Amino acid sequence: MHYTWTLRLSVALAFAVTSLVHGAEYRAASGAVVITPEGPLWAGGYASRTKPVSEKVHDLHAKGLLLEDGQDRRFLLISLEVITLPAPFVDSVTKRISEAHGLTREQITLICTHTHCGPPLHAIEDRIIYPIDDTQVAALKRYSEVLEGKILSLTAELMGDLQPAHLAFGNGTAGFGVNRRNNKESEVGKPGFVAQGPVDHDVPVLRVTDPDGKLTAVAFGYACHATTVELYQWSGDYPGFAQAALEASHPDATAIFVTGCGGDINPLPRRELRLAQEYGKSLADAVDDVLQTPMRPLTGPIRSQLERISLDFDTLPTRETLQADLKGDDVYHARRAKILLEQLDKGIPIAPNYPVPIQTLQIGDSLNAIFLGGEAVVDYSLRFKKELGKESTWVATYANDLCAYIPSERVRAEGGYEGGKAMVYQGRPAPWAPGLEEKIVNEVHRQLSSTVTTE
Ligand SMILES: [Zn+2]
Repeated sequence: MHYTWTLRLSVALAFAVTSLVHGAEYRAASGAVVITPEGPLWAGGYASRTKPVSEKVHDLHAKGLLLEDGQDRRFLLISLEVITLPAPFVDSVTKRISEAHGLTREQITLICTHTHCGPPLHAIEDRIIYPIDDTQVAALKRYSEVLEGKILSLTAELMGDLQPAHLAFGNGTAGFGVNRRNNKESEVGKPGFVAQGPVDHDVPVLRVTDPDGKLTAVAFGYACHATTVELYQWSGDYPGFAQAALEASHPDATAIFVTGCGGDINPLPRRELRLAQEYGKSLADAVDDVLQTPMRPLTGPIRSQLERISLDFDTLPTRETLQADLKGDDVYHARRAKILLEQLDKGIPIAPNYPVPIQTLQIGDSLNAIFLGGEAVVDYSLRFKKELGKESTWVATYANDLCAYIPSERVRAEGGYEGGKAMVYQGRPAPWAPGLEEKIVNEVHRQLSSTVTTE
């Protein structure tokens, strides 16, 4: 214990001295690159799609924010306007970033906005949810390779562009997220309608300014699926419109959406492009409100950690149940059964668990940011903020591996789409077993209370 305090004190002192020397406590760089597919490509999200997409509402982007503290500790956030983020893609990109720039894996987070008018990246589950042939699979693979190159170029640009910066954090509010498990879509907005079920309407905002106080970047979140529209046109949905609105009103700044725990939350009402624009505008207005009020300055060292925790599946399918699925009427169960049977035929057993990445970023004692893998439901956001304090806690998901829905224990026990049924579309062999929430929560607390602060 004595050693720990000594260590913390010496790191804090070293940091304070460096801050005094350089004036600004941090250095930061931000930027964006267009990632709109160039040729026709399958769009993600809706199983009902029947053809690829080749037109756009607006461009899709990869956004990057690189932070560095006074002791050269860095953190890179990349936010992508795509629908999926498969582990092999993330592993490949982060390995190449580490090799090129010396960032450790813990210092990089990749997150996707989960726009349902964005491309899926190449992964085996593409063949379960989408009726696509080998040509389309090859096109998705090519797109993933091009995207990887663009992320590496963006990172190189940021590494060469670090400038003195001040950081601050605050929370705003936007009201369009509705719990989709507890409310009928057709009822929302009718006279007398009162939404039921948990939601998180907070809008966390990280402000990055230069020493003159000019806004250079703003990262912001919201806990809601990007599912306002289902178009045969590329679109960032409401997060894309929010980013565009903020960059229009702050032309020198990069606006970066960091997806919140909206696994069970939809923007309602929906299904019209004007609504995606309206929700984007209301989110941008919420961010602007926060920017115009005094925000809490962030101080202290940047620390980040990442662990993959093994979450168990419930009862696995047997060869017999898979063979029955293969002959059954449900096309998705049949597609999954085909893949799993091929795996068994190769002598590879079905894994009884899956390693879900859990990452945290701490900025001094003033901000704890949590990046959960998968599509975590809103209960996680509400729980972490209750346990850790809303003023200094930012909970994000869709990070580092969009492997499956991550229900809370409540949602898992209730069942339904996010509780277990969606696993088939995501290529997982079974719903999660009980106990996942405690494992996730314990890992987050372990990381945040850990005292690994030295280089
Ligand atoms: Zn989703």
